[in-house]
Amino acid sequence: MPIKILAREVVSKIAAGEVVERPASVVKELVENALDAGATQINVETQGGGVSLIRVTDNGSGIPASDVELAFHRYATSKIDLLTDLEKISTLGFRGEALPSIAAVAEMEVLTKAEGDTAGTHLYLKNGNIAKREKRSRPQGTTVTVHHLFRDFPARLKFLKSATTENGHIANLLSQYALAFPEVKFNLVLDGRLTLRTPGNGNIRDVVAEVYGLEVAQQMLELDRADQTPGVAGLTSPPFLSRSSRGYLSFFVNRRWVRSSLLARASEDAYHGLLMTGKHPIVILNVYLPPQEVDINVHPTKTEVKFRNSQIVYTAVQKSMEKVLVKVPPPEIKTDTPSFTPPPSFWTVSGKEAPTLPILRVVGQLASSYILAEGPEGLYLIDQHAAHERVLFEKVLNQRSQQKIEVQGLLEPVNIELSPQQEEVLKKEGELLGEFGFSLETFGAKSYLLRAVPAIAKEGNPAETVRTLLDSIAAEEELSKQDEKIAQSLACHSAVKAGDSLTAEEMRELIKQLEQTKQPRNCPHGRPTMIHLSSRQLEKEFGRIA
Ligand code: ADP
Ligand code: MG
Repeated sequence: MPIKILAREVVSKIAAGEVVERPASVVKELVENALDAGATQINVETQGGGVSLIRVTDNGSGIPASDVELAFHRYATSKIDLLTDLEKISTLGFRGEALPSIAAVAEMEVLTKAEGDTAGTHLYLKNGNIAKREKRSRPQGTTVTVHHLFRDFPARLKFLKSATTENGHIANLLSQYALAFPEVKFNLVLDGRLTLRTPGNGNIRDVVAEVYGLEVAQQMLELDRADQTPGVAGLTSPPFLSRSSRGYLSFFVNRRWVRSSLLARASEDAYHGLLMTGKHPIVILNVYLPPQEVDINVHPTKTEVKFRNSQIVYTAVQKSMEKVLVKVPPPEIKTDTPSFTPPPSFWTVSGKEAPTLPILRVVGQLASSYILAEGPEGLYLIDQHAAHERVLFEKVLNQRSQQKIEVQGLLEPVNIELSPQQEEVLKKEGELLGEFGFSLETFGAKSYLLRAVPAIAKEGNPAETVRTLLDSIAAEEELSKQDEKIAQSLACHSAVKAGDSLTAEEMRELIKQLEQTKQPRNCPHGRPTMIHLSSRQLEKEFGRIA
């Protein structure tokens, strides 16, 4: 094809694809506009995962009647003027792309009234063009409604996940903005259900209570470095409160919700040595910087930031977190563990060898974490947690395929608070969890009563098991893999941990069970369960053979 300049319409659709990837991206842009307009109350309502309908209503400044149509032009913005403004952006929006991009892929309605206008303006847009304009009354503020998102874009629709998954993304997004703007009242109604409501009283702990539950809200530690540059404020969890995924790290730079590996590293590094492997803190971190110190114009979705001086930001975050963390008494250390590093190439990492195991005889335990065993082929060092995970994983899947899940009723039902996103997953997968032996019932808003768990999960913290499970299936898009995900999560939670001392009998039993699994050499996540030092290698190392 010869080179030619794309038609305007094509260009706008390509650009729309960058901003509007899924229903949650539409919600994000509309909520950001409402926040930029100074709203103190923002209501979000969706139907069908946001595909049938998204409606965002705010009580902000409104758009003057004379400007409404202009707002739907590409690069039309009231927020910046000159190139130099780009270097010091203080609003969430600035590219003037959102409204036209959404209008390019959906039908849209806007009803808005600005201060000083006698009547509101209602616009109806189809294919990005204004199809109808009329005067309508409404109090000051703006309501934007998006109908039939991607209806004429089957390829985009196909890429979307189920309505529940999209609802989950929307719930998570609103939760993040609510955390960043505690002085704004947020209401989220998904398919007619009130999913999130925040008081808008400026107290971040009250928002945390709505998003993560009261218990978390009460335990979080307060970061206090707001008066310096870079400023750091927010809440962070004490070391005894942690989660099994990174999904509880929320970062805001000048109140913009961002993803940042730098901030993730800085916060997790502050917990170094305080959390067990695989555990992550709950963090709500606000970083304040002069606008010219950070570049947000990296990507159309504005979720990535570049810091001019990332080292300073890293240090500020780490310091402020360490300052509050040192005040919490350190956890007790169970055992003094000798360290043992196998030389590389000396041991064979198992997994590439024959799938079945030879008969093994337990020799002892190393560092309360590894089982030493002898077999016809030499010495085996078995990771007790990984091995037990494999055993439990296959056990759960076997019981499930025979519909014989062993259930353990709880003496006292446990009250669990779920985040809006977790609730969405539960709504969709509640039945599946039931088939795995969980019995959960609604107990007021966001609260659930757990009455029974699968027998293998009877030890440990049942609330944490359920939350981790919901997080792990939220991340799994393929329906056929959800059984596996649940079994994996249950196994990981219920398996013995590194650091647990085992009796000889317990070790023998574990090895026996491992021998009977289908894939004894890998844990369900694919990591090796054992490394092997062959008799031949031993003889070589000791110079008995050449
Ligand atoms: P941007 O936010 O980058 O300026 P948008 O396309 O999102 O671009 O919006 C275009 C303009 O429409 C904004 O600059 C603002 O002036 C106006 N606008 C959009 N939504 C609202 C709202 N909810 N309240 C007030 N003004 C709005
Ligand atoms: Mg905008």
